[in-house]
Amino acid sequence: MIIFDGHCDVLWKLWEHEQDFYNDKVSMQVNYHNMKKADVKVQTFAIYIPEKVNGSQRFSTALTMVDLFYEKIVKDQSYMVPILKADDLLKLKDSGKRGGLLSLEGADALEGSLEYLRILYRLGVRCLGLTWNFRNEAADGCGEKNAAGLSRFGRELIREANRLGIVLDVSHLAEPGFWEVAKRSSQPFIASHSNCRAICNHPRNLEDDQIRMLISKGGVIGLTFVPAFVSKKEQVTITDLIKHIEHLLDLGAEDHMAFGSDFDGIDQMIHRLENQGEYVHLREILLQHYTSTQVEKWFWGNWNRVYLDIIGNY
Ligand SMILES: [Zn+2]
Repeated sequence: MIIFDGHCDVLWKLWEHEQDFYNDKVSMQVNYHNMKKADVKVQTFAIYIPEKVNGSQRFSTALTMVDLFYEKIVKDQSYMVPILKADDLLKLKDSGKRGGLLSLEGADALEGSLEYLRILYRLGVRCLGLTWNFRNEAADGCGEKNAAGLSRFGRELIREANRLGIVLDVSHLAEPGFWEVAKRSSQPFIASHSNCRAICNHPRNLEDDQIRMLISKGGVIGLTFVPAFVSKKEQVTITDLIKHIEHLLDLGAEDHMAFGSDFDGIDQMIHRLENQGEYVHLREILLQHYTSTQVEKWFWGNWNRVYLDIIGNY
């Protein structure tokens, strides 16, 4: 059973320290060896611009991360291919190769420029989160007090992302911005790595009415393995994660949930879900509780559908 993971921060790790994605001794949680071990067929690689990067360096830092994606991960395409269009996803199923999908985690990197969005699109970016935790040119993140919704630029980004075929991502976005995306986006949108606020009260998680809206728009929520977003307990386990799955099922999300691990963006992990290879433990436990049809949707089908629909074949 193949897996599609909706979010990881490997590019940030590679940007901070030169490391070999293909060396199984590497300390990263996501590497080729772990992808193979758990049969992760598609991994979304986020371009995240750290806070320490100052204003005018943000776009060039994003370009450096795009370069790392092609140089260190995709390389000569013997093992990994970039997912640029729907056909790339369709072809992958019968090939021995794995796919990498580029996403931008926060419009900070765009420095207020729609041209920069179009350039990143042409370089392969197929998913756009409007913010990280803080305010930027597009919107307010969920870490801002008295957060507002989208700026004029943020609204332009939605139109342009819809036009180009870029999946909009509301993880990290403050609630007023969420409702504007829901109202303005002509396409389904996703929360690539967020959990349920009703189960674990954390600002990065979504309220039930947000989840219902995301479902009604045809989107997908990617449950994430960040322990603080799963439970307030000291030792968080896969059983705690299942409480979020149960809650999503109660909300009618069977066809609208998936996983966005956030591996390599976290330094605390769920017990027995400590790197991407340990997806095998999650698969084993899920299959004890749910049918293989359900688990297949959450591991593959739901992300696959929303990306196929939106990125198209241009
Ligand atoms: Zn994140």
